[in-house]
Amino acid sequence: MEPISILQRYFGYDSFRPNQEQVIRNVLQKKDSLVLMPTGGGKSLCYQVPALIFEGLTIVISPLIALMKDQVDALRVNGIAAAYLNSSQSRNEQEAVFRQVHRNELKLLYLAPERLMASDMQLIGFLKRLKLSLVAVDEAHCISQWGHDFRPEYRLLGQLRQEIPEVPFMALTATADKLTRADIISRLELKDPPSYISSFNRENICYKVEPKRNSFQRLLDFLEGNKKESGIIYCLSRNSTESLAAKLQAKGYAAEAYHAGLEKHIREERQEKFLRDDISIVVATIAFGMGIDKSNVRFVVHMDLPKNIEGYYQETGRAGRDGLPGEALLFYSYADVNKLQQFTTVENNEEQSRILLKKLDQMVLYGNLRSCRRKFLLNYFDEEAPDNCGNCDICLGKYQYIDGTILAQKALSAVARLNESFGAGYVIDFLKGNTSGRIREWHKSLKTFGVGSDLSRETWSGYLEELIAQEYLKKSEGPYPVLQLGPKSRAVLKGDETVMLSVRKEPEKAAGQKRKT
Ligand code: ADP
Ligand code: ZN
Repeated sequence: MEPISILQRYFGYDSFRPNQEQVIRNVLQKKDSLVLMPTGGGKSLCYQVPALIFEGLTIVISPLIALMKDQVDALRVNGIAAAYLNSSQSRNEQEAVFRQVHRNELKLLYLAPERLMASDMQLIGFLKRLKLSLVAVDEAHCISQWGHDFRPEYRLLGQLRQEIPEVPFMALTATADKLTRADIISRLELKDPPSYISSFNRENICYKVEPKRNSFQRLLDFLEGNKKESGIIYCLSRNSTESLAAKLQAKGYAAEAYHAGLEKHIREERQEKFLRDDISIVVATIAFGMGIDKSNVRFVVHMDLPKNIEGYYQETGRAGRDGLPGEALLFYSYADVNKLQQFTTVENNEEQSRILLKKLDQMVLYGNLRSCRRKFLLNYFDEEAPDNCGNCDICLGKYQYIDGTILAQKALSAVARLNESFGAGYVIDFLKGNTSGRIREWHKSLKTFGVGSDLSRETWSGYLEELIAQEYLKKSEGPYPVLQLGPKSRAVLKGDETVMLSVRKEPEKAAGQKRKT
C-alpha cells in the first residue's frame, strides 16, 4: 500500500507534513536516515507508516517509559498491532509481549533502551532472530555525550546496530547541533544517511534576555502580565526550585517545584496537575519537560544560565505549542558563567571539556547578543534566517545606542595595563576595583584600577563582548582565553574614534529601582 493511503486509512490525516514523505520513501528503500524535526513536527509517523508497509517488526527505542503506554494505546485505537517492553511491567506482562512477537502478531514494539541491557543482553539475541524491518531511535541525541541529555544506556544501541547490520536505522531528534548530529551518525554507524532537517523556527515565541539583577522582582513584574497563564520556570539547582516555588506561592501564584530529587508519586502528581491546569506554574530543574506535551504553556523563564544552546532551545520550545504567542525570558549574569565554567572540566577528557566550554561560550554570546536572537539560534542549528525577526527583545528595540567612547577607553586601557594577559573576569574585577585577594597587589596601585566601579559586572561583561564583536578587543584561543587589544583599539585609545555601545532600555516597571552596583 502507498504511504499516503496508510496515512489516510490508519491515521485519518489527508496529507503529509514537510519531510515526512521523503523520510518514509527513503526508509522504504531500506536505507538509514537522520530526522531532525522540532517537537510536534510529526516524527512518529516517519516510522509508524513504514512499519505498516514493511512485512516484519519495527522496533522503536524511546527513553520515555511514561509515554510508551499512551503511544501504544493510541496506535491500538487506530487498529495497529503494537506493544511495549519496559521495566515498569511485570514478568507476566513481558512474557505475553514476547509471545506476541513470536507469533508475528505485532507491527511495532516500543522498547526502553535499558531493557536491552537487562538479563545479560538476552534481548539483543532474541531480536537478532526476528524478522526486523526497521529500528527507529527516538530522542537520538541521548546517545551523544555532546548532546544535552546524555543517557548511558543509549550506548547499547551501537551494539544492537552491530548485531543487526542489515536492518535500517532511523535516528530522530528535535535537538542536535552539528556536533551532536555527527556523533549520532557515528555512534549508530548510520550508513551515508540523508539528513532530513525541518525548519526549527518558532515564530510565535518571543526571546528576551534581561540582566540577572533583582531577578525575583523582575519575575513578578513579568508574571504580572501573565497572571493566570501556564508557564515553566527553570532553575539550576533543586533547592532554588523549592525556594522560588514557595516565594511565588506566598505571592498568590499556583506554583509547584519539580526536580529529580522528589519522590516519584509527587513528581507525577505535580506534572498531572500542571497538565490539567490545576496549577499554573512549575518551577523546575531541567528534569522537567521532556516528553511533556502541553500546548498552552505561555512562557518559559530561565532564572539561571543554561549550559548550552541546545538545552535552552529545547526548553524554550515548550512554550506556545498551540501556535499562540509564547515568551521565553532568560536572566543572564556573569556570575552564572563563572559557575558553569567549573562544570565544563571533565577529568581525563580534554576533548570533551573543550567542547563543553565551546558550547557554554555560545550561550554567553547569546546572553550578550545585540543582534536578532532568533537569527542567532537558527544559525546555531545551521538554518538561515533574516536579520530582523520582529519578535525578540533586540528586534523590538529594547536596546538603544550610546556614545561609549569613554567606557571603551577605560576597558581598553585596563587590558593594556594588564599586559593583555588576563581573562574577562579578571579585567572586570580590575575595572570595578575589586580589592579582594584575587587581584594582584601591584595591579591595585595602577591608575586605571577601579575606573569602572560605577557599573555592574553584567554591564561590563556585556560591553566587553560588544567590544570584542566590534574588534576593539579580541579573545585569545585556548582553554584560558585572555583579552587582548584588537586591530581597532589604537584609534580609540588615542581619541580618534567614537565607539557606540548599547544599553538596555530599563523596563517601565523597574524604572524607579535603579540600583547602585
Ligand atoms: P513529534 O514526535 O515530532 O514531537 P508527533 O509525532 O507526536 O511529533 O506529532 C505531533 C502531532 O502532529 C500529533 O498529534 C500527530 O498526530 C500530528 N501529526 C503528525 N503528522 C501529521 C500530518 N501529516 N497531518 C496531520 N497531523 C499530523
Ligand atoms: Zn529578532
